[in-house]
Amino acid sequence: MRRMTQILDVPFDALTMSEAVEKVRGFLHDGKQHYICTPNPEIVMEAQEDKELMRILREADLVVPDGIGVVWASRYSEIRLTERVAGYDLTQNLFQAVAGTEESVYFFGGAPGVASTAARKMKARYPGLKIVGGHNGYFDQAEEKKIIADIKRLSPSILLVGLGAPKQEKWMVAHLEEVGVKVAIGIGGSFDVMAGNVKRAPKVFQRLGLEWFYRLVSQPTRWKRMMRLPKFAITVLKKTKKR
Ligand code: UDP
Repeated sequence: MRRMTQILDVPFDALTMSEAVEKVRGFLHDGKQHYICTPNPEIVMEAQEDKELMRILREADLVVPDGIGVVWASRYSEIRLTERVAGYDLTQNLFQAVAGTEESVYFFGGAPGVASTAARKMKARYPGLKIVGGHNGYFDQAEEKKIIADIKRLSPSILLVGLGAPKQEKWMVAHLEEVGVKVAIGIGGSFDVMAGNVKRAPKVFQRLGLEWFYRLVSQPTRWKRMMRLPKFAITVLKKTKKR
C-alpha cells in the first residue's frame, strides 16, 4: 500500500529520498510501465484549473514533492512529508544507482544542445551510466514521430522528459505505451542544471528551504509564475485546519 498525503487534491508519496530511489529501482524490475511526476506548488496550483493535469498527477505511479512548499503544506495533513524530493536530486541519485548496470537512460527535452551537453556531463560524473540517446524539446509533429521512433529503437529503460509542466506530464501519458520504457520521469528544467546553464541554489539555501527565493532573485523572469506561491499558501491555509 502506498502512504500518500493529499495537497489540494494532488496525492504525494510520503517517502524519503532514499525510499523514493528504491521505489524507482523496483519499477525497473516489475515488468510494468510507470510514470513519475515531480510537482512543486506552482504545478499543484496549475492542476486546480487543468483537470487533465490533475487526473495525470492522481494516476501517477510515484509523485514526489519537488518544492519545499509542498512539504510545508503537508503539516496540515494526517500524513506528513518528511523531506523534499526534488526531481533533479531524484534523477542524480538514480544515475548513481543504475551506473554500471544494464539500465539505460534517454534525455528528452530542453533547448537544442542542452540534452547532449547534459548527457556528456552526467556520463563524466557517473562512470558507467548508459545514456543511449537524447533529443531537444522543441519539435513539430513530424519530428515528434522521429523522436518516438528513436526512443523505441534505442529502447532505454528510463526516459527523462524535460519539457516543462504540464507539457511533459501530458506527453508522458500520451506516449508511455508507445515508447515502451519501464520508467518515464517528468523533470522540468533539470537538463539545464545538468548542462551547467542554470545553477541550483547554494546548499545553505536548499537546507533552509529557500531555494525558491534564490530562484526568484537569480531568474527574475520567473516572478509571474512564482506569484502562484503565496496563492498556494493561502489556499492550503483556507482549505485545512491546523491539527
Ligand atoms: N522546454 C522544452 N520544450 C518546450 C518548452 C520547454 O523542452 O516546448 C524545456 C525548457 O527548455 C526547459 C524546461 O522545458 O529546459 C522547462 O523548465 P522549467 O524550469 O520552466 O520547468 P518547470 O519549472 O516548468 O518544471
